[in-house]
Amino acid sequence: MVLPDENPVQKLAIISASGDSASFIGLHPRVNLNGKLNKNSFRTIKGGQTFETSIDAAAVYDLTAGGQFEVVAEGILPYASKRKIKGEYTYSTNKATLEVNGTAAAEIKHQLQRRNMLAPDCQQGRAAATYNSLAVCSNLAYVAGVQALSGNADQFHRYFRTKDPNARNTVAKRFFAVADECASRSNKAKTFCTDPRRLCRSDYISYTLGTEITNCDLYWTFPLINRACHGVGQATTTIHEMTHIEGLMNPSTDDFPGHYGWPALSTLPPEQARLNGDNYGFYANAIYTNDPNC
Ligand SMILES: [Zn+2]
Repeated sequence: MVLPDENPVQKLAIISASGDSASFIGLHPRVNLNGKLNKNSFRTIKGGQTFETSIDAAAVYDLTAGGQFEVVAEGILPYASKRKIKGEYTYSTNKATLEVNGTAAAEIKHQLQRRNMLAPDCQQGRAAATYNSLAVCSNLAYVAGVQALSGNADQFHRYFRTKDPNARNTVAKRFFAVADECASRSNKAKTFCTDPRRLCRSDYISYTLGTEITNCDLYWTFPLINRACHGVGQATTTIHEMTHIEGLMNPSTDDFPGHYGWPALSTLPPEQARLNGDNYGFYANAIYTNDPNC
């Protein structure tokens, strides 16, 4: 079993005619490999079986200079048994020569930046941190959605105050919408990294306005993922903010006054619990801790 990652992650080595390596412009996801992995992350290959995959090189490398490039696909394929990583194979292909149209490559790079939803104020460290946070947001939200649908009912009840299958379905749908958005599959939200509107206050971690999320200075002081039960991290904060995005899933969530954080969020009636942004961020964190008592 292998993990083919459909996101624009690094899987090729590309050298230009002048001998320079092309720069990587795709995602650098940091994925939690502890515990059981998502079934959809695997593909089963029997002995002698083959599968085909295509990679859009211009979405992963900056090929805007155009001209001839040599391409080698190389990397590692982790394999697993019972959804736990057991080891990895290395692979490497023959060299192929590509003739690249620089203008077309530039258009793909531009689309990718648009798709990745980062505002121009996201530069260097904060851009990289935001890509990581979005990649982890997508993963955590997906797993939380699966658990909301079919996981521990008592745990679901602690956050959403009901075990009703329709409510579980609605919560799961929202998590899947967030997972899609964080993976740049739905293109509704845009993220700012420096608060150009100057709306952050000293105690704001981040805020959402319409379809725009701004991460405030405080956001960058949190860990990407917080392993503690009810802990706050960047990725679960992004999940919370994504549930507010207009048009991602109607109605978008609110922040019910006085129901921010744990345990305040656990006292909302069920109809409000599933419309409160924090309930999503905290449930996703609880699922990540893998502790059914969290
Ligand atoms: Zn909020």
